[in-house]
Formats: sequence, C-alpha cells, structure tokens
Amino acid sequence: MVVSDSATRAAGMPTSAYLHIPFCRRRCFYCDFPVSVVGDRKHGENSNSIQHYVEVLLQEISITSNFCQEAGARIGADRGALETVFFGGGTPSLLSVSQVERILEALDRHFGITKNAEISMEIDPGTFSLEQLRGYAKVGVNRFSLGVQSFDEELLRLCGRSHTVGDVYAAVDLIKQVGIKNFSIDLISGLPHQSLEQWQMSLEKAVEIGPAHVSSYDLIVEEKTPFYRFYAPGSEPLPSDEMAADMYRLAQKVLTTGGYDHYEISNYAKAGFECRHNRVYWQNKSYYGFGMGATSYVFGERFARPRKTWEYYEWVKEGCKEEENKAEENDQLFECLMLGLRLADGVNLASLAGKFGGDTLDKIWRCLERYYRCGWVQVLDEKRVPVEVEFLPAAGWLRLSDPEGFLFSNTILSDLLTQFS
Ligand code: SF4
Repeated sequence: MVVSDSATRAAGMPTSAYLHIPFCRRRCFYCDFPVSVVGDRKHGENSNSIQHYVEVLLQEISITSNFCQEAGARIGADRGALETVFFGGGTPSLLSVSQVERILEALDRHFGITKNAEISMEIDPGTFSLEQLRGYAKVGVNRFSLGVQSFDEELLRLCGRSHTVGDVYAAVDLIKQVGIKNFSIDLISGLPHQSLEQWQMSLEKAVEIGPAHVSSYDLIVEEKTPFYRFYAPGSEPLPSDEMAADMYRLAQKVLTTGGYDHYEISNYAKAGFECRHNRVYWQNKSYYGFGMGATSYVFGERFARPRKTWEYYEWVKEGCKEEENKAEENDQLFECLMLGLRLADGVNLASLAGKFGGDTLDKIWRCLERYYRCGWVQVLDEKRVPVEVEFLPAAGWLRLSDPEGFLFSNTILSDLLTQFS
C-alpha cells in the first residue's frame, strides 16, 4: 500500500469497519457471495471452522491497526475512533455472543469505538435465540438487519432459503422483545414465479411489522449460481424488464406511503434511521474491511481480500501484504459518481470539481445532458432546490430522480462508465 498525496491526508483515517462473516447454514440458490456452508447444526463456538476464522480475523485486525498507525503517523492523518461497525455475511448470527464480543473488544482496543457508534449485524431468521440477541445487544450491537427476502412460503423454498415465513415472525418477535427499534428488513423483488400481487403482499407485510428501515433489492441472476443454470434473465419464470420496473415503482409507492423515506436507490428508512454505515460507502468515504472477500478503502486505495478461505488465511499469515492496487483517476471519478448517484441526496458538484477539476463537470454533462432533458437526472442549487441549467454549475447537487432516474440507473451509469473508461 502506498501512502502519499495530500488528498489522502485530507481524507483522514477511516471511522468505519466492515467485518465479513462467511458462514451460512446452506447456500441460497441466487447467492454468489464468498461463503462456506456449515449446515444446520454448526453454531458459533461449537464449529471449529468458525472458531478458527474468528482467530484469523482478530489477527488481521491487529496487523491492520499496526500498519495504519505507522502509515497514518507518517502522513499526519488523524486517527478517529470507529463510528460505524457492520457485521455482514454470510450469516453473522452464526457467531456466538462471546465471539462477537471478542471482535468488538479488539476493534475498540486497536481503533477505538465511539460511544454512540452504530453497530449493525446481519441476522437470518431461524439462526438465533432470545438469549443470543440479548447477548449481542449487551456487548454493543444496536442495529439488526434481518434477511427476510419474501413473505411467501413457496418463494422462500424456490430460493433455497433456510427459513420459513413462520421463522421470520418469530425472529421479529425476538428483536422486539430485546427492545431494539433500529432494525431493518431485506426484501428481494424479481424472483422466479413472483407476481406483482405477491410482491405487494411482501411489501405490505414488511410495513405492517414496522421496522425502522427496509432494503428492497431487485434480483440479479449471477453466473455460477444455481439460478443461472435454471433461468435465463428476462424470460419466464423470471419477470420481464417491464414487470421488474413495475415492481420497483410499487416498492417506492408502498414504502413511501408507509412512512419510509426513499433515501437511496434500494433503501428506505423512517426519519433518523438511515444506515450510517452504508452511507460511508455511498459517499465514497474510507473504511476498513476485515475478513475473507471483504474490500477496504484506506488511504485512497481499494483492496479486495482473497475470496477463498485458505487463500485468505495464507494472506493474513503473511502479514496482510497487499498488492498495489492503485485506482486511476477516472476509476476514482466513476466510483464517486456510481456511489453518490445511488443516494437521494446525490453528488455534491463543488466537491467533485475540487477533487477532479472543473473540466470534469463538462465531461459529465456531455454524458448526462440527455438524461437531464428527459427528467431522469436533476440539478439542484446549494439550497437543494431543483434548477434549470444549460451546463453543470460548479456548486449545488447532481442526482437521479425518484423513481424514474433510480429505475434506469444502470443505463445511466453504464454510459458514465463508457465515458470514463
Ligand atoms: S444467507 Fe445470504 S449470504 Fe448466505 S447463502 Fe443466503 S444469500 Fe448468501
């Protein structure tokens, strides 16, 4: 890792950490994440493979901390305590309470964790007890993200999910008993055989439960998944593009009517409950990443850890030595646009011009003007009022409109990618 210019110094040290917990009871048919399947009976400390992984993760945290301390001191970057921590997976609720506690203690010892930090954990229905949730809350976890995906029994089965609708309600009941208000529900649209009515039912059931946050993702059929072998994107039983677009519009309608703010392409929250950790990614800020397959963004460098277990273990054993992974300026600009345009707030034009130069705004405008003309892209002044423009001003905001701009974000972003690659 090279630590050099003033821009990275100005960015300061990360105040967010992501931890990848790559274990699941079984693999869902649409999933291409780096995970190991441990079956139904393996759990937390009882599983040697999970126990070993936690030890390696603790080692990685310690090595990274030493490295960052030295590098940060060299460039005079401030080292702030962690304001957000995110246990993602995989299924982090396969960790025992004491394993979570050890990881949090290590983060606190090496980086510090602020008092009001957001500490999130992804949990899956059927993988935790009341005692376990209470334990997670006691050691500091204050936000849960529940992987529901659908309230239709048959769709859950078709997706290879390891839980039932009954497990979802039991899980919500436990979260409520623990008294954690800040919890999120994940849903997926565009599943095979899913009708618009079924999707509406899932959305309405989620609203009825009343989580603080809902994430609604459109299924992407990834290569090397069973779904890729079973189904061809765009053809039955997967929904057509028009139907997928209708599902997106329906989610926006049901969730915003239900009192949720559509603050990011796929995310909705009640006032004050936006996910602080995910905002760090979307705002292109730096963060630590720990664990197999996890990506970090430290000192202006993105680095993806090995996605295979043994390669990850070897890499940590060798002292987490990174290959140089320098992103070119265009890559960084595209990254900035790709992440920022996901947010309802959009991208700040002054900071874009400051970081990449005023000419960049002209290049972006050449690419986006036609989308602006058809209403998919909006320009706002500094007070966040939409304005009519003939070119991109050097102050204010650029954002996608909701829902049409968000819906066609892939088209818009692929044009930007062509422009900047
Ligand atoms: S629970 Fe999540 S991470 Fe695990 S296999 Fe299913 S989709 Fe993938």
